[in-house]
Amino acid sequence: MKTFCGRANPTTGSMEWLEEGEDYDYHQEIARSRYADMLHDKDRNVKYYQGIRAAVNRVKERGEKAIVLDIGTGTGLLSMMAASAGADFCYAIEVFKPMANAAVKIVEKNGFSDKIKVINKHSTEVIVGPDGDMQCRANILVTELFDTELIGEGALPTYEHAHKYLVQEGCEAVPHRATVYVQLVESRRMWSWKKLFPIHVEAEDGEKILLPPSEMENCPGVPSVCDIQLNQMPSSDFSTLSDVVKMFSVDFSKPVQSASTYYRVQLEPVKSGKAQIVLSWWDIDMDPSGMINCSMAPYWVKPTSALQWRDHWMQCVYFLPREEPVLQAEKLYLTACRDEYSVWYNLQKAREGENGADEEELEADVRVESPVCRCRAHVLWNRPRFGELNDQNRTRQYIKSLRKVLKTDSVCLCISDGSLLPVLAHYLGAKQVQCMQPSRIDLCHPHELWQAFFKANNLEDKIKIIEARPELLKPSHLEDKKISVLVGEPFFTTSLLPWHNLYFWYARTAVSAHLASNVTVLPQSASLHMMVVEFQDLWRIRSPCGTCEGFDVRTMDDMIKDSLNFRESKEAEPHPLWEYPCKSLSEPQEVLTFDFTKTVPQHCLSTEGSVKLLWKGKSHGAVLWMEYHLAADISISTGLMQLSNEKGNCEWNPHCKQAVYFFSSVIESEILSDPTAVTYAINFDTKTGEIAMDFKL
Ligand code: SAH
Repeated sequence: MKTFCGRANPTTGSMEWLEEGEDYDYHQEIARSRYADMLHDKDRNVKYYQGIRAAVNRVKERGEKAIVLDIGTGTGLLSMMAASAGADFCYAIEVFKPMANAAVKIVEKNGFSDKIKVINKHSTEVIVGPDGDMQCRANILVTELFDTELIGEGALPTYEHAHKYLVQEGCEAVPHRATVYVQLVESRRMWSWKKLFPIHVEAEDGEKILLPPSEMENCPGVPSVCDIQLNQMPSSDFSTLSDVVKMFSVDFSKPVQSASTYYRVQLEPVKSGKAQIVLSWWDIDMDPSGMINCSMAPYWVKPTSALQWRDHWMQCVYFLPREEPVLQAEKLYLTACRDEYSVWYNLQKAREGENGADEEELEADVRVESPVCRCRAHVLWNRPRFGELNDQNRTRQYIKSLRKVLKTDSVCLCISDGSLLPVLAHYLGAKQVQCMQPSRIDLCHPHELWQAFFKANNLEDKIKIIEARPELLKPSHLEDKKISVLVGEPFFTTSLLPWHNLYFWYARTAVSAHLASNVTVLPQSASLHMMVVEFQDLWRIRSPCGTCEGFDVRTMDDMIKDSLNFRESKEAEPHPLWEYPCKSLSEPQEVLTFDFTKTVPQHCLSTEGSVKLLWKGKSHGAVLWMEYHLAADISISTGLMQLSNEKGNCEWNPHCKQAVYFFSSVIESEILSDPTAVTYAINFDTKTGEIAMDFKL
């Protein structure tokens, strides 16, 4: 089957119709899936195996047959563990067809075809009965349906249904129980992902302070989970205000209710501060005794135990609706509200002389709605974007550069999504300032936000929003003036890979007719940079596993490899590398430059070369990022910020994703005698806006 998908090309901005076979989606899903990461998660696998063995033994000790239901079998791993542990029969349910097919092959290869029946259905479609999918209800329920937020992948409704229709009363469940933990913290860094801080601008006529509108101050934000590798957050970036507290537990061996509910705990701050953030993670007990425990607790909670790295389960950052000043030892109530798929938090202070009436008040207060952004800023800006706009250092670079290029008679056009540059340009004295937000025009209506923004800062009528795409710009939009300063961060919300922001170059080309002959373009140019790295852990997500706990899963490895190679040239993928430590094996090098003072050329831009591997280590892949040259000596890097050379540790821009190109095979650079081992060819096709790359080791 062929499908046509219409989309705006993120780099060129042009509308295109892509013809995609359904294979494409499969391959994308598998190539970018977490199966490899799960199979590499030794801690998880070992504990599941222990839990499954214990459950099978308990059932056998009761003299019953062990009938296993494995919901979401994936590779079939947990069913094979159960069969090896002596289970009499396993029903392995998998909704994703390519995975169900893979599970059949893997089960067969490992010799379990007579013990494991793979059923390609969603568990809620499974029928029990003599002619059904399952002969009888199961007495062991095994699943791994959890995401970082525990319930985001639909574990609760799946369990609710399974207990009603697919398993026996009193069944054994692996895992037996999950517990969600929370800790209240103050963190300017994390709070800057939700709230816009005042921005200070030194202008000719004194200091200006750009303030967010009041709607934004009190906005609860968006409900989507913020999941990160909290272990990469240095302890200097937050301060814990409470102990770690158990928020709620779910017992998977009993009927589970998925309907919306809330949980409340009492907290006493261990120190005074500003309560802003709730950090949260969970653990699972594989057996009822709690002896087999798999925990996502971050480094400061159990400093002695070795941390298992994993990307399929991380930690959550929840933003309180408002910042709340709290005092040491005062009485607080923290409420977790949840629906079927998501969790959100609310903090209340206990009132003086608490009595029954206050209790009622509390009850009424806690049932808060799931957060919905009212100010539109949280729809316009995602969390990293908030962080970027709040980055004072970055803002200073733009101010410095704007100051160099703006004159009192400047007619300035800014092309970037949800950018504060137009306000900065106005403060710095540009005569006329207009802005265009190309990719946000149809997505959300940012104008109300801007109106509120301008109103809060007495900027009404000072900055004009042009509601047209660059190619439709007319002289009347510009009051019949020519643009003397064209600026962009550049930033566009449709960008996934670093070079997608080259859309600025295409927009600049489209508005060429409106530019004054002596126009200044800021940034004047951009460059693509590249470095070969060894990842501490990220390599696991794309690396073959071979055998997992003694089971041959090479079928899965092959499937992932096929999907990664589905397109003739492999693609780079975006990752926020501040969360994924790596060390450089080569010097960073500039590979392509893009001259924004000129229009996009007709011909392709390509380059070839080689990278010297200067340090010992495993070459897992290349990292690519963009740098923007704002003015003569001012550049902004969206990738590497610093390299500490003795160890090669890299510091990455914390607000941006970098492009990672995983090499298909890994080389150890210590065994290389010739240091120019990696050759590359990179091609930027100016027609399609795509960058194709090839590396040879
Ligand atoms: N059990 C495997 C894979 C876990 S990933 C392991 O532990 O390694 C979870 C899998 O469950 C995914 O393949 C997903 O497609 C599948 N899945 C999720 N919910 C499901 C449901 N309700 N019914 C059937 N499959 C489901």
